[in-house]
Amino acid sequence: MDSNKEGGCWYVGLSKLDRLVEDSLVLANTGVRAINDYGGSDTPEATRIIDSFFKPQLIQELYQIRIQFSKVRDWLKDGGPVNDRQHNEARLFCDDSWAEKKKLHDNAVDAELNGLNDLYGNPIQVMDIPGVLGDLQAKSEQLGILPNQLAVYLNLNTRSYFVDQKYGLSSIYYGFCENSEMHGMTIHWTGAGYSSLTICPSAFGQGRRWRRWEYQDLDSTLLQPVPLSKVAQNPFDPALQDIATLRPSVYVFFHELFHLVLGSESTYPDGGEFYDTGSILGAHFSQAIRNPESFVRLAIGYERTRKVPPDANGHRVEFFTGYATQGYDVLEPLPVPSAK
Ligand SMILES: [Zn+2]
Repeated sequence: MDSNKEGGCWYVGLSKLDRLVEDSLVLANTGVRAINDYGGSDTPEATRIIDSFFKPQLIQELYQIRIQFSKVRDWLKDGGPVNDRQHNEARLFCDDSWAEKKKLHDNAVDAELNGLNDLYGNPIQVMDIPGVLGDLQAKSEQLGILPNQLAVYLNLNTRSYFVDQKYGLSSIYYGFCENSEMHGMTIHWTGAGYSSLTICPSAFGQGRRWRRWEYQDLDSTLLQPVPLSKVAQNPFDPALQDIATLRPSVYVFFHELFHLVLGSESTYPDGGEFYDTGSILGAHFSQAIRNPESFVRLAIGYERTRKVPPDANGHRVEFFTGYATQGYDVLEPLPVPSAK
């Protein structure tokens, strides 16, 4: 907390970290509430957004969504084990600088960061550490990329080496936060028995080295809803407000909490996570239930639906089409949800 070194959160600050936790709790509660509101005659908005983002066919599937939200909520309130209850410790980082990129011919270090020597007093290199070359091979097969697109990193917390993609330039300081599409990462360090949640500076909408930022509340984005018929007329109209553009500061942190608390098994759909609104709307239940972004969008959208007062006709702002809509200006009524 007192520096930015090794992934430190000084630039975020304690009060903003507290707000991340508070806002995550609000969103997790909103997710639970959406499920409870499903099928209610006075909350058709809940039914519409859940049907559209998750497509549950059975009551048990609805409950599965609620269970995931509840687990995240309960962990925020009470703490306890993470990674599907397999790790007792979670560590928060606000940058990727807890890892240093190494070259295979660099001299290796031990847990005290002293150079390692062999029996003859010669320095041991990174590539000679047991497991490193095997890990490189395994990772390249797993990701389907060449070993030279990978790098070996030293985790400054565990003082152990791990293999990941070679992000950014060759500088030792460039890690995954250098990737413009990467705003956070959760890793379960099975050997070390803890899980790390890293938020990148870009998660707060700031460039890598620009560390001044304003906290964006859950209601910070100005909503510009259109009548439902507008979306039906032209779903590619650039004037439509995509739910993906609602990005309060808590966005990335809340997403990573699903990976952290629920573990990898339940938070990676086959074929990988999907983030864009079209893919979320097109996903089947079996994919959505393992896709953190589907939960994040549902909670952020339904939170705004609930909090913004309805218009004179009683229509609320909704996001079930993937865009902000409010009411309709065609003769057909909105779909009437049926309780499942
Ligand atoms: Zn993710």
